[in-house]
Amino acid sequence: MLYRKNKKGEELSILGFGCMRLPTKAGLIDFNRAQAQIRYAYEHGVNYFDTAYIYHAGQSEGFLGKALKGIREEVNVATKLPPYLVKKPEDINKIFGTQLKRLQTDYVDYYLMHALKDLSTWEGLVENGILKFIDEAKEKGTIRNIGFSFHGNSNEFVRIIDAYDWDFCQIQWNYTDEFTQAGTGGLEYAHSKGIPVIIMEPLLGGHLANKLAEDEQKVFDNASVKRSNAEWGLRWVWNNPAVTVVLSGMGEEAHVEENIRTADEGLPNSMTKEELKVVDDVCAAIKKKRRIPCTGCGYCMPCPAGVDIPECFDNFNTIYSVSKGRAMSRYIGFTSGLTGGVASNAGKCVKCGKCAKHCPQSIEIPDRIEDVRQEFEGLVFKAAMLMKKGMKIGKNDKREA
Ligand code: SF4
Ligand code: SF4
Repeated sequence: MLYRKNKKGEELSILGFGCMRLPTKAGLIDFNRAQAQIRYAYEHGVNYFDTAYIYHAGQSEGFLGKALKGIREEVNVATKLPPYLVKKPEDINKIFGTQLKRLQTDYVDYYLMHALKDLSTWEGLVENGILKFIDEAKEKGTIRNIGFSFHGNSNEFVRIIDAYDWDFCQIQWNYTDEFTQAGTGGLEYAHSKGIPVIIMEPLLGGHLANKLAEDEQKVFDNASVKRSNAEWGLRWVWNNPAVTVVLSGMGEEAHVEENIRTADEGLPNSMTKEELKVVDDVCAAIKKKRRIPCTGCGYCMPCPAGVDIPECFDNFNTIYSVSKGRAMSRYIGFTSGLTGGVASNAGKCVKCGKCAKHCPQSIEIPDRIEDVRQEFEGLVFKAAMLMKKGMKIGKNDKREA
């Protein structure tokens, strides 16, 4: 196992174990099997285990607490605060108390604000007293490092990075996300400020490992270097020196073993030009299937009506390059505001046309945004918006009371 350092100079294994896709049996985490995987990873040098309040419908933290019994002090535990469940200051302490109990520990090594999408979600937490909570928790030693996980565009990522003195952050990054999400620009910006970056979705939820289309797979198969798809994807992420830990949501023994073997070779700048070209070619074959030639540059932003244009287009393209299911769940999760922040969906477009003037790809943005609206904003999306409305009403009611 190779290690990279955090802000304090502590060594973190470059492979982190993500506990969101653990093996299950009859809808519950298969404890014996999942614990054996965790222990195997630990014995082979993995020292970073990542969970969240909501993973496996609330079972993941409790599982991890039990699975790490006897070795908890030897490893780093990361877990996350769901901002949308914080309606008043007391909620933060209550959720954190539950997490410590579930994890059978009296401290968390890496505590993240879960899935921030924009600065306003962080500001909402600040309004609810998160800064006082962090200061006290750090003082008491119940939290060692504070960070956030992020799903949004690179402009918002930079704003959040600049809004607080973070110990670390976590972004989605893989060879198809160089110009989407926080992007390579965001990764390098955080690194330039000395902030360690944890990577999630290095294989796009497994898509880059085992669901490539025939023409995409052919590129890897014809390469002179023989590697599995997962190995190509992980090696590409570790190749960037700005990356600290790469999380893999492992649920199969074979994946744990393979990823640990691959991590032995994950040195920064270790891929040759030819190898990087192979990955670029696979990425181009994937992107060729995208219907809107949006590069995620963000020049069209901000939209005065609050539409997240690159996010809308990225989800639309995901239908053709990955799958409709993934595109739909991401669209609902990240544009409806259901998981925090303000809504930024295509339906907010007022067709002012301001955006189109700035697009270097000459995309007819208002028309394509209308395509996105028609594709995604059916009954399921409307139900999500209604839930969000209900959550807001509850919050206001409490404030007035
Ligand atoms: S046309 Fe629509 S998406 Fe473009 S800036 Fe105006 S409101 Fe925003
Ligand atoms: S300016 Fe054009 S290419 Fe850039 S993010 Fe907006 S729509 Fe996409």
